[in-house]
Amino acid sequence: MDRCKYCGSAFLRKDGVRNGAQKWRCKECNRSQGFEDKREKYSAKERA
Ligand SMILES: [Zn+2]
Repeated sequence: MDRCKYCGSAFLRKDGVRNGAQKWRCKECNRSQGFEDKREKYSAKERA
């Protein structure tokens, strides 16, 4: 799991999924954020 990009806290909880991207809410600063999926569904090479 990633850490909060705002305060660096590791206390994150799931805040739903939007457009296939998992959203997280920080317990420390209470800001929601999304983390990029590490997997590439369509790479630049395939599109070319
Ligand atoms: Zn935070």
